[in-house]
Amino acid sequence: MKKIAFIGLGNMGLPMARNLLKAGHELKVFDLVQAAVDELVAEGAKAANDAHDAVAGVDLVVSMLPASRHVEGLYLGDDGLLAFIRAGTLVLECSTISPDAARKVHARAKALGIDLLDAPVSGGTAGAAAGTLTFMVGGDGKTLEKARPVLAAMGKNIFHAGPEGAGQVAKVCNNQVLAVQMIATAEAMALGVANGLDPSALAEIMRQSSGGNWVLERYNPWPGVMANAPASNGYQGGFMAELMAKDLGLAQEAAQLTQNSTPMGALALQLYKMLLKQGKGRQDFSVVQQLFIEPEA
Ligand code: NAD
Repeated sequence: MKKIAFIGLGNMGLPMARNLLKAGHELKVFDLVQAAVDELVAEGAKAANDAHDAVAGVDLVVSMLPASRHVEGLYLGDDGLLAFIRAGTLVLECSTISPDAARKVHARAKALGIDLLDAPVSGGTAGAAAGTLTFMVGGDGKTLEKARPVLAAMGKNIFHAGPEGAGQVAKVCNNQVLAVQMIATAEAMALGVANGLDPSALAEIMRQSSGGNWVLERYNPWPGVMANAPASNGYQGGFMAELMAKDLGLAQEAAQLTQNSTPMGALALQLYKMLLKQGKGRQDFSVVQQLFIEPEA
């Protein structure tokens, strides 16, 4: 069993850390929000005073932060964490950030003899709680083999996407598809209900027909269709719209670099920006439903 520092205990990090505890690892945890730390301490983790304290004496570090700036801020610079992590330690950086930011953190880690992987995830908060996340890993294949048992305590599918930053490239491609599916599903739900259909009946017909997709299977945006979906809980929890807007922006940046045409991704980003302007950025990304029709909760 390993001594693990876990930094970033939000919607995803907290259940991921919980699964590492359940697997018998020793955890030191840190988040800027004390309540999240307290919750895991009650379940057997040790509280760290700050991120530097968290990484002292551990074998492995996991981080799950919102965006590139948080990850660069945590690891890089003279006072950055990498300068305080001992050589040979394994670092699993699981946040969704730009491939470029991931490569910068990789380069610094490599220079210091630290094994680092970019390992963003898919599967949402339900997958994080169930330990069934998909990991998309960028970095050295041998390092991935060392990390595999720890990743397996949090996820079911572990893919080696390629070299440094490749996990992030796979992740932004995936989330662009997810956003487009979510918007298309919300648009169709609104159209069907406005034309007199029962939302649950429509959802089930589409789920079992050629329009079926991951959103219809697990994450319907219409309140009441799926009891466990954020839409049935006031669009709370889940994956915040502002994080989806961030990921769509990362996809656009990647497309810019390679001159790829991504019209669906560009439109999806514009629609999510509208939601953010309406003050809905901290609600689950399925709140995009309200751009088409405001369902009665
Ligand atoms: P979140 O905002 O709920 O959690 C982030 C946590 O990081 C917060 O608790 C915050 O206090 C903490 N934090 C920020 N800066 C910190 C620092 N310097 N030190 C310590 N803690 C710090 O976000 P989330 O939904 O858990 O998402 C985390 C990452 O996972 C994001 O990159 C997101 O894009 C990605 N992701 C989220 C989902 C999802 O369904 N929520 C799914 C897949 C991937």
